[in-house]
Amino acid sequence: MDDSKKLEFFVNAFETKFADYEGECRCGRHFHCTELLTWPPEGEFEAYKPPFDSTGLDYRVHFISFENKTYVIDCECWQERANKIMGFIGTHDTELAEYLNAITNERRREAEKVQIVKILSSQDIRNIENGR
Ligand SMILES: [Zn+2]
Repeated sequence: MDDSKKLEFFVNAFETKFADYEGECRCGRHFHCTELLTWPPEGEFEAYKPPFDSTGLDYRVHFISFENKTYVIDCECWQERANKIMGFIGTHDTELAEYLNAITNERRREAEKVQIVKILSSQDIRNIENGR
């Protein structure tokens, strides 16, 4: 599998599920959708003026989030870190699967300890009262 395919899968997995007409990347770089420059129609409101150094996109600004940090997908600043993460995952996939399975099994054991409270129906209560 080539690196661009891996990057595509990484973005699909970590892309946030929201997009906006403008946004700032964690590195401080600003992006905006060029549709903003024609909306609202002239004369109705003050036209949107992006920061002078903002990068215009033909589409809405999409974000990617990992390690509790959010970036604009069109920014390059996050890609070096993403490459390191993908490299780690790629060279330790068996170990990671073992680790995730162990975590899942532990959570399953903990969930089985939880007592389930049954809400009695009025018929259940009558049956108990009648000794059935
Ligand atoms: Zn950035």
